[in-house]
Amino acid sequence: MNIQSGNDSNSADMGNMIATFKQITDNPLAKYFLLRTLSYCEEDKSTRLESALRLYLGTKTSGCYKCKLMSKMLAYIIKKGAKSFGTPEEYLKNTMQDDYWIKGLRSVLEGIALFGVRKPFIPGAPFQIVWNITKACNMKCIHCYEAAGNRDTDELSSKEVIQGLDTLSKAGVTSIAFSGGEPSIHPNIIDYIGYSHNKGIYVAMATNGYILADKDRSKNFVDAGLEFVQISLDGICPDTHDSFRGVDGAWNKAVCSVENFVDAGIFVEVATTVTEHNKDEITEMIDFVRDLGARWFMLYNFIPAGKGSEIIDMDLSPVDRSNILKTAYNQNNDKMQILSTAPQYAVVASSMLSEDSNMIPTHFYNPEYSNPLLMQLAEFIGGCGAGRFYMSIEPNGDMYPCVFFPHKEDVKLGNLKEKNFKEIWVDNDVLNVLRNKEILEGHCGVCESRNICGGCRARAYNYFDDISAPDPGCINNEEEWKKLKNKISHENINFIHPEHISINLEAKNND
Ligand code: SF4
Ligand code: SF4
Repeated sequence: MNIQSGNDSNSADMGNMIATFKQITDNPLAKYFLLRTLSYCEEDKSTRLESALRLYLGTKTSGCYKCKLMSKMLAYIIKKGAKSFGTPEEYLKNTMQDDYWIKGLRSVLEGIALFGVRKPFIPGAPFQIVWNITKACNMKCIHCYEAAGNRDTDELSSKEVIQGLDTLSKAGVTSIAFSGGEPSIHPNIIDYIGYSHNKGIYVAMATNGYILADKDRSKNFVDAGLEFVQISLDGICPDTHDSFRGVDGAWNKAVCSVENFVDAGIFVEVATTVTEHNKDEITEMIDFVRDLGARWFMLYNFIPAGKGSEIIDMDLSPVDRSNILKTAYNQNNDKMQILSTAPQYAVVASSMLSEDSNMIPTHFYNPEYSNPLLMQLAEFIGGCGAGRFYMSIEPNGDMYPCVFFPHKEDVKLGNLKEKNFKEIWVDNDVLNVLRNKEILEGHCGVCESRNICGGCRARAYNYFDDISAPDPGCINNEEEWKKLKNKISHENINFIHPEHISINLEAKNND
């Protein structure tokens, strides 16, 4: 969902807006009415709020009498609101035409009703689910978080996937990103994309791009309703990428698939997992990826999950990570945004903002507003989104806070087939811990940036078996990083890399 606004004439004073929302949630009657608008209408197959807004906008013409009545009330409130904010009603109507905007609004209001106005903010449903639809993969990446390869025997059937999509849609999930394994080789992926799209869900896919170098094939995905594609590229040249991916010709195919999707006009993101293996190529890659026409270049944090746990000597030092993020931030321009899954990127963005800049610094998006009060939003929405804006589903339906969590019982949230999705979202012990930044350990717990960062919880868990542990990838937690390095060298672990990828661990330990 694009939260960027080219015109913020409708931006109310943020402080007042937050106070107003607080009043609503503190007032039992107001909260009751808010929850009523968010109740599900079986006849119109959406919440009453969504149905009423669509009736008001004219994007649908029929509805049950209760939704129709609510649409009249909404029309009155919107007219009044537009007048008091000095904004033409037509402008508001145009903004709301985007159906994803309506879904996002529902999720924000539901979050306020369920969890209150709090830092960090929790929506009524995850904005995005990454669904690893299969474990089958046509590559052998040495950093694969999923340790993918062959299809698992317990993967969900087609019928179960469709039922799962219905559940997620009803819960108010705005976007689904199919991943894997390699989602593009799943025999039913086109059907799943089409089904999700028809449910009004924003559909994305994370792929290695190999089979999508075929233009006709990539077109099939776009025709089915794919709106966003993320293609992995781990280096500036075939040698770097193919050696990491274990497949000759992978780089050429990935680049070709980027070009195909750019030509098709959908949103293209290129993703690179930054490690010791490719860190010196990032600067050159920025220009290359921009010239390819990608809209976003995403620097993935290396996380020692899955096969990645066998190459932890390739993880960046906190200083290197920080320097790379600063270099990347400086290269941002209108043609392409450079973002990162490292939440410390928000801290870099915040420290490098010019005094007159009104950018909201988060690691996943940096929208600019002319109303400086909106910058306070970063404190509500920023930081690690695991179990808050974001969740993951495994090929067998198991759910985790983020794809980078290991598949262990103590961080498993449940299974899409067996449990009530909404119950899990509202009151799960693991999620409740992840949503509390007051209990973070190490410097993360006292850091003044914890509301816009909070560290990557998956890195903390994979390194320390504790979701509240400090993120050892941050310069503020350098002591933890040094302890880890000592542990690795004392345990005398032999990291085995393909012979063309040699890392001098001894030299790294002396960094
Ligand atoms: S100490 Fe933790 S919260 Fe602070 S910047 Fe580092 S990772 Fe983020
Ligand atoms: S744990 Fe949080 S910061 Fe780390 S990858 Fe997952 S969502 Fe992102």
